[in-house]
Amino acid sequence: MADRVLVIGSGGREHALAWKLAQSPHVEHVFVAPGNAGTADSGKISNSGIVDDLTATGIRCFGPTEKAAQLESSKSFTKAFLDRHGIPTARWKSFTDPKAACSFINSANFPALVVKASGLAAGKGVIVASNKEEACKAVTEIMQDKTFGTAGETVVVEELLEGEEVSCLCFTDGITIAPMPPAQDHKRLMDGDEGPNTGGMGAYSPAPQISKDLLKEIRDTVLQKTVDGMRKEGVPYFGVLYAGLMLTKDGPKVLEFNCRFGDPECQVILPLLKSDLYEVMQAVINKKLSSSMPVWFEDSAAVTVVMASEGYPGTYPKGLEITGLSKAKQLGLEVFHAGTALKDGKVVTNGGRVLTVTAIKEDLMTALQEANKGVAAIHFKGAIYRKDIGYRAIAFLKQSRGLTYKN
Ligand code: AMP
Repeated sequence: MADRVLVIGSGGREHALAWKLAQSPHVEHVFVAPGNAGTADSGKISNSGIVDDLTATGIRCFGPTEKAAQLESSKSFTKAFLDRHGIPTARWKSFTDPKAACSFINSANFPALVVKASGLAAGKGVIVASNKEEACKAVTEIMQDKTFGTAGETVVVEELLEGEEVSCLCFTDGITIAPMPPAQDHKRLMDGDEGPNTGGMGAYSPAPQISKDLLKEIRDTVLQKTVDGMRKEGVPYFGVLYAGLMLTKDGPKVLEFNCRFGDPECQVILPLLKSDLYEVMQAVINKKLSSSMPVWFEDSAAVTVVMASEGYPGTYPKGLEITGLSKAKQLGLEVFHAGTALKDGKVVTNGGRVLTVTAIKEDLMTALQEANKGVAAIHFKGAIYRKDIGYRAIAFLKQSRGLTYKN
């Protein structure tokens, strides 16, 4: 008997999840709540009202409990957890008193400091300070001016890490991990990592900067150790575990965890997934990841480029017609909608990040070229996007003469 599945959300990530789940023969229909134009009535996928669906009984959920999700929702919990289990991260201290935080900052001998609101602050609660004065100012803003509300009642002060940032994700049933290919996101708005921070302007996977040995190290010393640690502490973690890592000269160090797929990392990782996502999710829920089938990924490269509204990440117009979507499809690309809506039968812009164009090819260069062709085929007034997604990987590959993490 085929099942019906509910995906909650309305971004490009949720479109990618619904698209992949719809490919499973076990799945009769995928409802997306609230969804967007891309998930509205396309074959096995349609949009849905969340309240009706959640009142249905016997819903099986893929994702961690609220307590286990502290790995994302509390930086002070996570930093202490990492230290308890000897998982590498920046040296740190947490404070609930701004005076104590400032006196620590003034006496700290770290070359540079990062000040973070401990709670959830929509990715904005991190201030990289270039000197002690700036770090103390950040403490005052977070704790006294309450820039991030209650998320800033506790602050974490940590040493600045230098290196390249990568994302390593895995599926886990609380015991076994099934790692995904490593990915790299591009947070800044403009080419060359210039301009303001955004939710992410593009991503690629696998990230060749991560050698096979390094990947094994990350899997053993970060992902598996975290899952083991949570289980040993009586808070088993299951679902998707996302580790944001800095590749420092002293090895990989954890910057943060997310308890879900990243967006737009999801739009490059899922198209590489060869296994049936629904079967993987069932294995996670039933704690059968080890005894069930292994999780397979294509031996290819994926690139996704985000197209955003003019003015993003600030204010932007909505309701602008989007054309060329079918042309991008004809090029063999996947277009995952994020901020779109249907208006009078037309697809229009309805958010800051509007859509992502994903290309899967045998190598990164070709995937990037194809994704850019798709972006060139799609139009809406004032569209902004980066033309250099994957540039760090390409520079790395050129320098290392094509050595990739698979070698
Ligand atoms: P977080 O939410 O802790 O991942 O921080 C958001 C972003 O701030 C990260 O993706 C990094 O770019 C940056 N960041 C956080 N902590 C540090 C650190 N200790 N050193 C350097 N950059 C950091």
